[in-house]
Amino acid sequence: MADHLEAVRALLSFLTNKEQNILKDINEIAGVGHRVVHGGEHFHQSVVVNQAVREILEATKKLAPLHNPPNLMGIDVCTELMVSVPQVAVFDTAFHQTLPPRAFIYAIPYRYYADDHVRRYGFHGISHRYVASRAAKILRGKIDNPRIITCHLGNGSSLCAVAQGQSRDTSMGFTPLSGVVMGTRSGDIDPTVVSFIAEKEQYSLTEVMDVLNRQSGVLGISGVSPDFRDLEKEAAQGHERARLALDVFAYSVARGVASLIPAIDGLDALAFTAGIGENSPKMRRRICSFLAWLGVVLNEDTNSENTGEREISARESKITVLVVPTDEEKIIAQETMEVLQQDKRAEKNRF
Ligand code: AMP
Repeated sequence: MADHLEAVRALLSFLTNKEQNILKDINEIAGVGHRVVHGGEHFHQSVVVNQAVREILEATKKLAPLHNPPNLMGIDVCTELMVSVPQVAVFDTAFHQTLPPRAFIYAIPYRYYADDHVRRYGFHGISHRYVASRAAKILRGKIDNPRIITCHLGNGSSLCAVAQGQSRDTSMGFTPLSGVVMGTRSGDIDPTVVSFIAEKEQYSLTEVMDVLNRQSGVLGISGVSPDFRDLEKEAAQGHERARLALDVFAYSVARGVASLIPAIDGLDALAFTAGIGENSPKMRRRICSFLAWLGVVLNEDTNSENTGEREISARESKITVLVVPTDEEKIIAQETMEVLQQDKRAEKNRF
């Protein structure tokens, strides 16, 4: 597809195609839910996109230059093609707006927070919220108000400490570059590495950020692939740097989990989700092996199955370990319905 307009037009014509028998007419669409990566400090929940919201989203473009501009493009194109259909923005950052200041303030001059909103935001909030709420449901009866760390491990990876259903701390920061090691992103590094690479390669800052965003992570370490299936295959055949990349990743996740425990005063459950978290028993085993001191014991049978949502810890494990397939689309759809219903109620009250 040449652009977003063409892509959404093709999608709508597919949905309204008689043979598909999905929609008779575009007007059957009650609303469109958009995943918007960065909502800055403005949005604590999902909103119907109006002119004022759109202006704020335009201003938050600079906080997530890789993600928010295409998100806005999607919103604009859907608005153009479905004039009377409301558009709803569902934010990846919103769930983390409950972080206490000690978890979101960076130890740099305060004016960068006060004037420029430089702080930890956290991402994958839609997924963390869904997985934590499913985990709490699974644990109901056994543990009330569980303290959970959700591990969203996919192309992008992040961890989130949840207590009382709220995000209390998370591994990603100002942007989705920080935190644990990822497919092509470095995760946390000493910022001095930035100036070192810039000087050595005579790179601009943009070029260095490209190295950290697209050429790093397990791809950078292994030189093989950002895809964990390739890495596991290569490692099994003795590829040393593929092995190293998997080892660095597992350790970085375990270290991240341990570092989040003070945010929720302990730990009742660990929940794995997303491409790697849901599908790689080997990676879950490796991560949990670094957490044995916490009393984490896996049940090798349930860990090796591929049967969706389930408990994978052994009976004697002090921490319940779960696999919860994430369902971001479902949450976006639910949120969209809820926001539109609230909006309708508010409208009724107004008149
Ligand atoms: P996501 O961003 O959630 O779509 O996850 C993508 C990542 O999940 C990629 O790195 C895939 O290699 C990884 N992944 C998917 N299936 C498997 C699997 N069976 N074993 C290991 N990694 C997997």
